[in-house]
Formats: sequence, structure tokens, C-alpha cells
Amino acid sequence: MTDTAGTAASGEPLDVLIVGGGPVGASAAALLQTATKEARRPLRVAVLELNRPAATSPDAPLDSRVSALSRASERILTAIGAWPLIPRSRMQPYERMRVWHQTVQPRSGDVLEFDAAYAGEPNLGYIVENRLIQTAALTAFESAGGQVIAGELSRLRAHDHHAELETSAGTFTCRLVVGADGARSMVRESIGLAVETSSYRQTAIVANVRTELPHERTAWQRFLRTGTLAFLPLADGSSSIVWSVDDSAAVPLLAMSQSDFEDELLRQSDAVLGAVKLLTQRLSFPLHKLTAHRFTAHRCALIGDAAHVVHPLAGQGVNLGLLDAAALSELICTAVRMREDPGAQSILRRYERWRKSEIEPIARAIDGFNRYLAHGVGPLSRLAQRGLALVNRTDEVKRFFITRALGLDGELPKIARQS
Ligand SMILES: Cc1cc2nc3c(=O)[nH]c(=O)nc-3n(C[C@H](O)[C@H](O)[C@H](O)COP(=O)(O)OP(=O)(O)OC[C@H]3O[C@@H](n4cnc5c(N)ncnc54)[C@H](O)[C@@H]3O)c2cc1C
Repeated sequence: MTDTAGTAASGEPLDVLIVGGGPVGASAAALLQTATKEARRPLRVAVLELNRPAATSPDAPLDSRVSALSRASERILTAIGAWPLIPRSRMQPYERMRVWHQTVQPRSGDVLEFDAAYAGEPNLGYIVENRLIQTAALTAFESAGGQVIAGELSRLRAHDHHAELETSAGTFTCRLVVGADGARSMVRESIGLAVETSSYRQTAIVANVRTELPHERTAWQRFLRTGTLAFLPLADGSSSIVWSVDDSAAVPLLAMSQSDFEDELLRQSDAVLGAVKLLTQRLSFPLHKLTAHRFTAHRCALIGDAAHVVHPLAGQGVNLGLLDAAALSELICTAVRMREDPGAQSILRRYERWRKSEIEPIARAIDGFNRYLAHGVGPLSRLAQRGLALVNRTDEVKRFFITRALGLDGELPKIARQS
């Protein structure tokens, strides 16, 4: 039980305990807290987070870990009250995407251009610092009466009617445990959910840069035979680069001097934004794909990177995770309105069917882009590379890709459909 201040003390049962208060777990918690309260069936929800980021001062330099948030994500974050907590001065709407293969000129008609105006939209989404998304969602959850517990999960056991979690902050029991603890999920491991995983043998190099030419509120992405190089527009006029390269090529890129790296960026971007100056350190992330065979087990559901990890070239990880969070919360709210158990098998089965059928084709498509556009040299790759120019000349196909970029296709949770 929660005490009068609404805090969950160790040993007192909760309805839902979300392990991991990253962007996805924090949003899932806020969704559950607000929706069940509005339905007058408030659940006792808590988040266990090992490493909550410190608040960001409004004039601090922009962090280099950013995400491209889709319209669907914007709607979810708006519904929980997190969107207004992200300072407008730190979020950059982007109106266009320009995607091209290294075999064509960057400003020619063979560049694939997606313009928000084609779909009658003001923009395709926003580039936002990850820590701001996470902090805003956690704050929204707390404002709605939820509790964030600082601690680390060490052991999890599922029983017939509850799950028991041993953590550095004490022992907790709940009717449903949600694993939102990222790619190396301890929840997933503890309950023995198997995964299919493999390394891309690529590393993503991430940094913020100042470019000679303005970014034009455009996300630029060049497919290279050794990977992909993206420039995402940031609110202060700088750009965030995400450069995914084969591991063997990443080692010298990370070791070379700043000015050599800047020259290499100029060359590999085909000077599309002119000279490039590094503003931050280069960070590196080894890239792998991962899909859990099952997204649920008895008294347990996985969401976000704990359930699936995709290549960052399509900027979909947070967006897919927020849709998991919204889908799970929608199913739980419907059930608790009818006084059902939030951890019931029937809810978990429906969640798993829904989200697996959405995620699997997207993960395969992203893999195909990586395999044929970014790497391949065979006939299929040449076909895919020519396909970019063809898509550019076909309005219907373009509109399809824009709807995908906005995150507005597939079977959407209600909250992501409403503007
Ligand atoms: C280079 C790069 C670029 C990307 N760009 C984009 C993009 O443009 N758009 C997009 O949508 N996605 C992007 N992604 C993917 C995105 O970053 C991830 O999909 C997203 O961070 C997943 O969020 P999450 O909340 O599921 O997991 P995480 O962000 O990993 O959060 C997990 C949380 O759980 C906590 N935790 C872990 N273990 C425990 C434990 N045992 N006990 C308690 N707490 C625990 C952690 O501290 C953390 O806060 C990118 C990824 C990379 C590598």
C-alpha cells in the first residue's frame, strides 16, 4: 500500500513497478498514473531508476545525445504533460529530410527529399536532447503523484499473484513489473526471456558540430559504402552528427586529431554543409540489433530497448518505445476500468501480439536500409540506391515515407492518433 504522501515504502505492495526511468519507462509511468487517475481507478505506480540525470540549466550547452521525435511521440509526451516542460529554446523542429547515396551529388535531383509540406504538416518532428525527454517525463510522473525510487534492481521473481523485486532501495512487490531498463535489461534476463541479437559490427560516432552553411531545419543523411552519416539540426544553429561506420573504420576516426576528424567529416558529407567544426567530444556506441522472442512473461512486460533495439539510421528507438508505453498503458487502463488485474495474462498477451506485429516489419525494413543502402555493393544494393531517386519522383511513395517518419502509420494507440 502507498502511505498518505503517496510514497511506496519497501515491502508495501504496488500495482505496477517500472524498472528503468529512461525516456520510455518514465513516459509509461506517467501515462499509467494520469490515465488511471482520470478513469477514477488510480493505480499505485512507481519507477525504479538507477541513474537519474541532474536537471539541465536552460543555458547549458546542448548535449550531444539527441533523438528525432516523431509526431506520435510529441502527442504522447503532450498527453502526459511532459512536452511543455521541454524548453522550446532547446528543441528544433525539422521540416525536411534529404537522403542521398554517395554515388550522387548532394544537391541534385537524385537526392531523396521529404518535405513536411507534402503531408500538410508544419514539420516532420523535433530534435530533442535525450536527457530533457527523460527529465520532463519523470517530472510529469511526479507531478501526477507518482514516485521515483532511486535504486538498482538486483533480483526479480514472479509468483502467481505478484512479482517480487530485490533492489538496492529494498524489496518491493507489485502485480505487474515493466522492464524499461534498456538493451541490457536485467528484468528480461532475470525472467529468462530469450533474445535474438547480433552485432552490426559498426560503431556510431556522435558529436555536436558547427557547420559553415545553415542546416535549413533539415535532417541530412548520406549513405556511404561504409555506413551512414547524418546531420540533425539543433536549436542553436549547430548540428548533431550520427556517423555509423564499420568498427575497423571507427577506431582511427576516434583516435585522429580534431582537425583531421573535421576534414574527414567535410569529405564524407561531400561538403553539403561546408566546413565542419567539432563543438563536443566524440562519443561512440557499438551497434547491435536485438529482439526479445517474447515481450511478456508471467507478471512482466518489456517495453522500449529492453524489448527491441534497432539501428539508429532511421531514428526510431525512442519513438517505437513510446508507442510500446502508450499501447501497454491503453490496455491496462481499459482493464482496470473493468476492475481487472493490471498484470493479467490476457492484457499481456494482447500487448505482445500488438507490439510484436508492429515492431518486426519495421526492424526488418531498417535492417534492409542498412544492408543494401549503407553497405552493399551487389545488384540488390545498386537497385536500392537507384530506388532512392525513383522514390523521389513518386508522390504517393513519398507520402508513405513521410507518414512513417511522423510515426502515424500502423495500429496506433489512441493517444498517438489524437492531435
Ligand atoms: C547513436 C544513437 C542515436 C539514436 N538516435 C535516435 C533518434 O534519433 N530517435 C530515436 O527515437 N531513437 C534514437 N536512438 C535510440 C534511443 O536512444 C533508444 O531507443 C532509447 O534511449 C531507448 O530508451 P529506453 O528508455 O527504452 O532505454 P534507456 O534509454 O536505455 O533507459 C533505460 C533506463 O533504465 C535504467 N536502468 C538500467 N538498468 C537498471 C536497473 N538494473 N535498475 C534500475 N534502473 C536501471 C537506466 O539507468 C536508464 O535510465 C539512438 C540510439 C543511438 C545509439
